Amino acid sequence: MQVPILTYHGVNVAGNEYAGNDHVAFAADLELIHALGLRIVPAQWLVDNLLGRAGHDLRRCVVLTCDDGSNFDYYDLDHPEHGSQRSFFNALLDFRRRHGRAAQPDLHLTAFVIADPQARARMDVSCLVGRNWMQQEWWRAAQASGLIGIENHSWDHNHPCLDSPGPHGLARGDFHAVASEEQAEFEITQAQEYIAAQMAPRQPRLFCYPFGHVNDFLSRDWLPRRGPEVGLDAAFGDGATPVNADSDRWNLPRYICGWHWRSPEQLRDTLLAAADVAAA
Ligand SMILES: [Zn+2]
Repeated sequence: MQVPILTYHGVNVAGNEYAGNDHVAFAADLELIHALGLRIVPAQWLVDNLLGRAGHDLRRCVVLTCDDGSNFDYYDLDHPEHGSQRSFFNALLDFRRRHGRAAQPDLHLTAFVIADPQARARMDVSCLVGRNWMQQEWWRAAQASGLIGIENHSWDHNHPCLDSPGPHGLARGDFHAVASEEQAEFEITQAQEYIAAQMAPRQPRLFCYPFGHVNDFLSRDWLPRRGPEVGLDAAFGDGATPVNADSDRWNLPRYICGWHWRSPEQLRDTLLAAADVAAA
């Protein structure tokens, strides 16, 4: 098993070229992955195999994720500088219309969302343009489409726009700071419960570290101990290597668009390197 996980951010819109726009990149990458003869599968399949619960054929497969849960994930939005942006969800639908369901029958995108509505409202004003683009009303429809899974990206991202210190003495702006029982319950368990309540009866099962900040307390102590109790199967970081059978369940590596690759050529090399190892 050798599966690369790719990650996109809907708020990354710095222009309308591949290199600065995760929507342009996402749509192009769907075509590239398909043209390379690779299969897109849900993140949960990979986790289930890793935990020995399932035996999906994951040869020459790719997993897609997106972070932060802005409305850009689901709705086409009119960016104030760069115009209309095709959402990740609509890009999946476009792909399916072009190629038919049989082309990528397991097509799926895992969306890691921020739970706290007040924190999202603050981010909408301080980081976006104050147009209510950090909402949750699309979560259920996205999940019901079968193309998107809604998962846990913490209570409030411990985002720098929040008042510091936060509850339990939490210094804001850095997820490495989440290093006590109370802080972990606040950031991770509270988000699990909130998202589960919104998505009932389905529960989130995957966690993604904000900013890719992975500390020893969370990855080696708290999540191995408390993760399964709160319904979590695995956690995702940004290690930029394919997931294999030896990967750490509580720090599964991902490749980040715009950071680990900036062009279709770079992504092709990454995907083929992983697929070659898998085929060997
Ligand atoms: Zn994030």
